[in-house]
Amino acid sequence: MTALPMLPPLPSAPPATKDEPAVPTRGDAGSVALGRGEAEPNARARHRAAMPPRHLADLDLAARRTAVAALGGAPFRANQLSTHYFGRLVRDPDAMTDIPATDRARLTEALLPRLLTPVRELACDGGATRKNLWRLHDGSLVESVLMGYPDRVTVCVSSQAGCGMACPFCATGQAGLTRNLSTAEIVDQVAWFAEVASRGALPGSPARLSHVVFMGMGEPLANYVRVIDAVRRLTAPAPEGLGLSQRHITVSTVGLVPAIERLIVEDLSVTLALSLHAPDDDLRDELVPVNQRWKVAEVLDAVWRYAAHSGRRISIEYAMIRDVNDQPWRADLLGALLSGRLAHVNLIPLNPTPGSRWDASPKPVEREFVRRLRAAGVATTVRDTRGREIDGACGQLAAAEVEL
Ligand code: SAH
Repeated sequence: MTALPMLPPLPSAPPATKDEPAVPTRGDAGSVALGRGEAEPNARARHRAAMPPRHLADLDLAARRTAVAALGGAPFRANQLSTHYFGRLVRDPDAMTDIPATDRARLTEALLPRLLTPVRELACDGGATRKNLWRLHDGSLVESVLMGYPDRVTVCVSSQAGCGMACPFCATGQAGLTRNLSTAEIVDQVAWFAEVASRGALPGSPARLSHVVFMGMGEPLANYVRVIDAVRRLTAPAPEGLGLSQRHITVSTVGLVPAIERLIVEDLSVTLALSLHAPDDDLRDELVPVNQRWKVAEVLDAVWRYAAHSGRRISIEYAMIRDVNDQPWRADLLGALLSGRLAHVNLIPLNPTPGSRWDASPKPVEREFVRRLRAAGVATTVRDTRGREIDGACGQLAAAEVEL
C-alpha cells in the first residue's frame, strides 16, 4: 500500500456556504419507500443532512443555460462551462480562457462549487488500483475506487454516505446511512477519475475511463432519482455529459423491487447487478435484511423482467462466506434458480471487514461451487479481490479516516 501525496486543492473551489442554493431534494422522491421498518434497519441513524450546493452536473444542458441566464450570462456560456467540465475534464477557472474573467469567476462560483475534497488517496497493485477518501461539504466522508485493467478503466462510485441496508458482512452497512449523495456528487467522482485516467496515471491501462459501477458505498436504488440522473449525465454525449456507454454502467442493488420496476420503465441499457448472496429466504433474510420485505422469488422475478426488457444479462453477486452460504446444496439450488436465465454469477471471495465473525470460503469449496453452477449451465466467474490491501474491495468501504 502506498499513500500518495495529497492532491492540490481545486482552484475553482469556493467553500460551500449555507447561503448557496441547495440542490432541490425533491422531497423524498429520490428515495424508495421501503414499507416495513425492518426493511431499512438503520433508518434511525438517518437524519436530514444538508445537501450540497447546486453544481452544473445536477442540471441538464437546458437547465444550465437557464441558470447561466439567471446569473446574467449569455446562455452559450453554459456550453463552454460544460465543455470544460465534461469534455476536457478541466475544473480550474484559470484554464477557461475562452470565458471573460469577470463572467468566469461568477459562473464557476455558482455552477462549479467544490463538492469533493480529497482527504486521502491510496494506491496498490503498482498504481493500477486507487482509492480516494473524500470529504463532502457537510463533513460526510465517502470513498471511490479506480481500477485500471489492460482493456478498460473502471471507477466504483458511492451513491450514499453510509448505507441503510445493514448487510452484516459489509463494512459500509455497519454504520448506517448518513445521507443520499446529490447527482453532482456522484458524477463528480467519475469526472475526477476520468481526469486522472486521462493523464495516463494508470500503468498499462487505456487513458480513457470507460466503465462505472455503482458498487461503492450506499444502495443506489434507495437514492433512485439522483442515481438515474447521474446515469443520464454520465452517458449523455459531451458537452451535456461524459459520453460513456450505458452498457458500461452497472447498477448494483440489494433488490428493492419497486425501484427495479421503476428502472424497467426508464428504458436504459445499463447492467443490473443483484446482490443475492443466498438462494433461500432463511439465509438471505439474515445476510441481506431487505429480503425480509422482498423475497428471493420476488426479486428474481423483477430482475428477469428487467433482463427481458433491456436485453442485458443480470449479474448475480454472491459473496462466498465459509460455512455460511457455500454448501454444495446451495450451489445446486442457485443453479436451479438461474438455469436458462439471462444471468451470470459473480462469486466474490468474502473480503475481511473489521469485527466480522465470517471469512472467505476455502478455495476447494469455491471451486466445487463454481463446478456445480457451471454444470447447471450457469455462466460463473470469480471476481478478483482488487484493492483488498487498501480496504477498497467489495464491502470494505467504510470511510473511516482513522483507519487509513
Ligand atoms: N448496496 C448495493 C451496492 C454495493 S455493491 C449492493 O449491495 O448491491 C457492493 C457489493 O459487494 C455487493 O454485492 C455487496 O453485497 C458485496 N459485499 C459487501 N460486503 C462484502 C464483503 N465483505 N466481501 C465481499 N463482498 C461484499
